[in-house]
Amino acid sequence: TVRTRIAPSPTGDPHVGTAYIALFNLCFARQHGGQFILRIEDTDRQRSTPESERMILDSLRWLGLEWDEGPDVGGPHGPYRQSERGDIYAEMARQLLDSGHAFKCYRTSEELDELRATRKAQGLQQALKPADLALPDEQLKRREAEGWPHVVRMQVPESGTCVVEDMLRGRIEVDWTQVDAQILLKSDGMPTYHLANVVDDHLMGITHVLRGEEWINSAPKHQLLYDYFGWDMPQLCHMPLLRNPDKSKLSKRKNPTSINYYRRMGFLAQAVTNYLGRMGWSMPDDREKFTLDEMMAHFDIQRVSLGGPVFDLHKLTWLNGVYIREDLDDTALLQALREWAFNDEYIGQILPQVRPRIETLADVMPLAGHFFAGLPAIDETSFDEIKLERDDLLRLLQLLVWRLEGVTRWNKESLLAEVKRLCEYFDLKMKVFLAPVFIAVTGSATSTSVMDAMAILGSDVTRARLRHAIE
Ligand code: ATP
Ligand code: GLU
Repeated sequence: TVRTRIAPSPTGDPHVGTAYIALFNLCFARQHGGQFILRIEDTDRQRSTPESERMILDSLRWLGLEWDEGPDVGGPHGPYRQSERGDIYAEMARQLLDSGHAFKCYRTSEELDELRATRKAQGLQQALKPADLALPDEQLKRREAEGWPHVVRMQVPESGTCVVEDMLRGRIEVDWTQVDAQILLKSDGMPTYHLANVVDDHLMGITHVLRGEEWINSAPKHQLLYDYFGWDMPQLCHMPLLRNPDKSKLSKRKNPTSINYYRRMGFLAQAVTNYLGRMGWSMPDDREKFTLDEMMAHFDIQRVSLGGPVFDLHKLTWLNGVYIREDLDDTALLQALREWAFNDEYIGQILPQVRPRIETLADVMPLAGHFFAGLPAIDETSFDEIKLERDDLLRLLQLLVWRLEGVTRWNKESLLAEVKRLCEYFDLKMKVFLAPVFIAVTGSATSTSVMDAMAILGSDVTRARLRHAIE
């Protein structure tokens, strides 16, 4: 049976690219009566967080992309979190060492830098081969005996061409000289993506790997690993990456990329899923509006076109409107509003913000309206009141956006720390600095606390509002 998977790394916000790839894997599996698996690739212990994992699962489920096996629902091939499969990778690496397909490398990072620099100076290709990395026998024995830290690397051919078959692209040829002796186990014993990914795809019975084209360069290494283990390789299919309207790779610098953003801005899950289905793919009759069930029923991977699909916020917004008008009666619309923001949890966060500032209940909405808005209309005249030059003010906002992109734990404390840092840097009073931020985020100069508002609105909406004010 056909088995596909999505294998996100929980290192940040749930990316629309992850949902897009998940959607195509799900449709491919269903179309063949197969299964779709979710595996968490959290081998990067520094960057992986449980919050990110929770958000990814939550977002995919919100979009209706349900999996048959995964860390939360279990299944016969678990555990489905790579951090819990360490013994398996250690054993597999040992097998490769025993068969001579891998070797221990005791090179220090200074030596590696030096090797790369010399190669560069000689005009040689950058990939480091096993022969480049070899140490004189005596030195190797000494480092081994003294227990130096080491990694495990895979053997790779010195020359020749590797041919990989892709379901959409046909033959992909890569020169072996370009492929380095990839690290499989890091010095702390953790596997790299390549080892864990290949081992898990095999042990989890994955038959087809649909993933972003950014992974094409990994395919030769993976193919080689399958050969070394004597396993059949799943069929590979590298999907075109999503693009910004200017055709560059979709990135959060230019476009919101977090599914959380679309959810918080009031998009409907069915519209977002439908729109993702239009990314490089079309229904046989070319209709733009279709349900997930319809997409599964008519899915054909050969209808994926390789020209970079543009993720266009305006088109998505248009489609969302069509869904609201055509599919939601008043009862359903009310329900959608409740799920979106008119619920105890969300309103509960806002009440402490408004309580000190109201005298009647009717005061709440004018004060808190921006919490129920997308990009608030900005009263331009309010910027005139501010003691900063317009250009300086815009520059400050831009700088803040950049700084906020790096904030991984989004809460009032870390936001305050970031703002304080900028104030010190520019030698500005907090009040002066926050005035334009206030207007950009809440739309007016009189509202609830801006730091609390940013914390409640979340990273994506906050950054989008700041960007909106600059544009
Ligand atoms: P950004 O440039 O917005 O920071 P990124 O490339 O850093 O994006 P990651 O956090 O590295 O994003 O990627 C998260 C997931 O989203 C990965 O699985 C990646 O394959 C996928 N992804 C990222 N960008 C795209 C894209 N343009 N199209 C499709 N998938 C993407
Ligand atoms: N963990 C990888 C990612 O984040 C998976 C890539 C693959 O599908 O092989 O995209």
